[in-house]
Amino acid sequence: MVAGLDEKLEPIYQEVLHRNPGETEFHQAVREVLETLGPVLVKYPELADRKIIQLVCEPERQIIFRVPWQDDKGQTHINRAFRVEFNSALGPYKGGMRFHPSVYLGIIKFLGFEQIFKNALTGMPIGGGKGGSDFDPKGRSDGEIMRFCQSLMTELYRHLGEYTDVPAGDIGVGQREIGFLFGQYKRITNRYESGVFTGKGLDWGGSRARKEATGFGTVFFTHEMLKVRSDSLDGKTCVVSGSGNVAIYAMEKAMELGAKVVACSDSNGVIVDEEGIDLDLIKQIKEVERRRISVYAQEKKSARYLEDGNIWEVPCHVALPCATQNELNGHDAKALVKNGCILVAEGANMPCTPEAVRIFSDAGIAFGPGKAANAGGVATSALEMQQNASRDSWTFEHTEDRLREIMVDIHRNCYETAEEFGAPGNYVTGANITGFLKVGRAMMAMGVV
Ligand code: NDP
Repeated sequence: MVAGLDEKLEPIYQEVLHRNPGETEFHQAVREVLETLGPVLVKYPELADRKIIQLVCEPERQIIFRVPWQDDKGQTHINRAFRVEFNSALGPYKGGMRFHPSVYLGIIKFLGFEQIFKNALTGMPIGGGKGGSDFDPKGRSDGEIMRFCQSLMTELYRHLGEYTDVPAGDIGVGQREIGFLFGQYKRITNRYESGVFTGKGLDWGGSRARKEATGFGTVFFTHEMLKVRSDSLDGKTCVVSGSGNVAIYAMEKAMELGAKVVACSDSNGVIVDEEGIDLDLIKQIKEVERRRISVYAQEKKSARYLEDGNIWEVPCHVALPCATQNELNGHDAKALVKNGCILVAEGANMPCTPEAVRIFSDAGIAFGPGKAANAGGVATSALEMQQNASRDSWTFEHTEDRLREIMVDIHRNCYETAEEFGAPGNYVTGANITGFLKVGRAMMAMGVV
């Protein structure tokens, strides 16, 4: 028996463990949702009668396939790829592709599961899915990346479609990879189906503000969390882990709203710059030159580089974990509390361990979970699909305004739902229940399918 679960939910969790052995990240994501659903079953027993929770924990379809490809020296490599089509009650499966050596089925299932509720929270008509491969893009040439993407799409294309399954980017998959994937899809299907992929380039069906959306959205959500406490980002010190797509634009918007960002990182180390991070330099190193973050400290004298350093030990008011899952543990949470942190919002998916979240809650630190705080990325993907469907292209300002409105709505819904279910200020409860009820009701309406 695992402590903390409602007696009706414990057997459901045990069944998930039994049916999905070894998939620890997936177990963690399911447990975090189940821990908040007890009061929902009391209020809506029909959801329990129809086994909606058990159904939502079982993906509709899981695809696993091999991806053979040749490197520049003519050597053959074999990777494994996944697409988990988790839930289509609200719309076509929607969620990114991740290329990282740590990828296995359990990671894709955790991400796909989170995506169901996140997508529901956006209020857009999109279901939940996720995919990826254990391919490591680091150090690979453009030609190698292209051949890998083409080989992957040669199998994946048959499962996609703008009304079926619509992938996007994630760790290791940016616009370059999406270009190669979309190009191969177009070639095989002989269809210019813009709406089958999001995160495309602006010249070929992409949306303005999509690149910025996840990071900007996380900061809009942070802004709302501070606003209900009669506070703001102005004058706050921030640390942002990672230096990829989400981290860069979280830093940009936080700075725009008056915060001083003093640290960021990559998987090798941390840079600390008490003068405030120079974002143009970060973009040059990461987006243009694709080099390591340590280069920053060589170029900027006010900065120091901490190889294998711990970013959460850098004092801050606001912490935005924007790198990867389980990157912030109990020890890190204690360091943040000790150093006077008042707010943590997840730009990445599940970056804080359950123990860290408990420590924040006990210390009264405001905590924004990823499925709410980083939903701006997928919301703007849905706006990209809208533009594709109407053959339209919106301005940056209009798209950013829509994104801001969506994040304000998500925040309000989570906040109000948490109050309604007796957990004021608890955004984990608010996000899980809001997302689950939306998906669960749609599933009820569609019968046993
Ligand atoms: P990127 O690949 O652009 O950047 C990832 C960043 O995190 C890099 O700085 C990378 O460093 C670092 N990182 C990755 N893995 C690790 C690790 N194991 N340990 C330490 N650092 C690591 O990815 P994104 O910015 O797109 O994604 C970041 C997070 O945000 C992920 O959790 C993703 O699922 C989530 N997310 C992304 C969305 C999007 O729109 N892109 C939408 C919603 C959530 P290095 O370069 O050294 O690998």
